[in-house]
Amino acid sequence: MLVFVGIIMLVTATVSTNNEKIKNYFGYKVYEAFPKTARHMEVLRLMIIRPEYDFWSSAKFKKPVFVMVAPQSQREFMTYMEGYHIPHRLIIKDVSQSIDGGSGINYCKENVNNKEDKIIFDHYPRWNEVNKYMDLLARSYPELVSIEEVGRTHENRTLRMLRISTARHGRRHRKAILIDGGIHAREWVAPAMVLYVVNQIVEHRSSNGEMLEGVDWFALPVVNPDGYEFTHSYVGLGRQTRALSNFMLDNIPFIKMYLTFHSFGQSFLYPWGHTKELPDDWEELDELARKAAEAIIKTGGPKFEVGSSSNVLSFGAGGADDFAKGRANIKYAYTVEMPGGGPNGFDLPATSLCLQLHSLYQGLRVMVKALREE
Ligand SMILES: [Zn+2]
Repeated sequence: MLVFVGIIMLVTATVSTNNEKIKNYFGYKVYEAFPKTARHMEVLRLMIIRPEYDFWSSAKFKKPVFVMVAPQSQREFMTYMEGYHIPHRLIIKDVSQSIDGGSGINYCKENVNNKEDKIIFDHYPRWNEVNKYMDLLARSYPELVSIEEVGRTHENRTLRMLRISTARHGRRHRKAILIDGGIHAREWVAPAMVLYVVNQIVEHRSSNGEMLEGVDWFALPVVNPDGYEFTHSYVGLGRQTRALSNFMLDNIPFIKMYLTFHSFGQSFLYPWGHTKELPDDWEELDELARKAAEAIIKTGGPKFEVGSSSNVLSFGAGGADDFAKGRANIKYAYTVEMPGGGPNGFDLPATSLCLQLHSLYQGLRVMVKALREE
């Protein structure tokens, strides 16, 4: 079988020599390959040296690896995968169709492979890592990032809120956005999303400057740390949600948008969850979420549904966003259900994590832009 690989490589050798630095990604696809046997590894090692196959990391036995495939090599790529029965799946149909012309690919490749970012989105961070990252940011960007203790959990863990603001010390911008994750402990992708937003606006501020223009951010990555660390134990949420609610009430004049991340589903849900009725201004909430959903599709991301919790999910769904809108007067309050995946359905395989976070983030950018212009 390896002779067969050799022949294909000779035939395509001329293509490779003409292959200059990639300038745009028209027709490029991204696949995930999963080498399960020694033979699979051999084949991938032969492919990895070829410029038409852009491996994001070295191939490891029984570990998924991303490969970006140039248009002229797609048939050959499939011949390898199918000929050697290497498990694989298509992740991105056409990289150039991304709203950002493939910047997500560039970003995620860099993030996963280099050590410049203080957090790497190739795994779900544990509570300890979340805290370390928060501390590191507060220390490295003291003019921008501060940490506020907003409460304690049943097991006496501290609930720490990140405040990210370009306003001078002690002052606040008129508009603030509150994001949180990990209300439901099993939904590991949610805290990762909060950290991704933080990573973009703090560590990649130069390319995300508009996200901080006249807007303050409050980020609570893990609302329920007791449950996050011990996912299978029963944990009452009373103290944590009370701390979050109080924070909203204390900041009533400022917070204009609230996003609580959950999984799994693919939807932007707005109030109400407790009744089929809609808020008076539901059309504005609906329109803003639809803009985000559109932007996500344009990055090659999944299709998000938009609607009120009780109409999209079921009667009695929703919760924190109902409180945010009904009691804390936050106009744009959403539950964002993120795509599922993985063996239990609740989370994506960690390898797709960065790309998924990136595509949802493109949706948030659009929402923040609209909010700022309001
Ligand atoms: Zn949830």
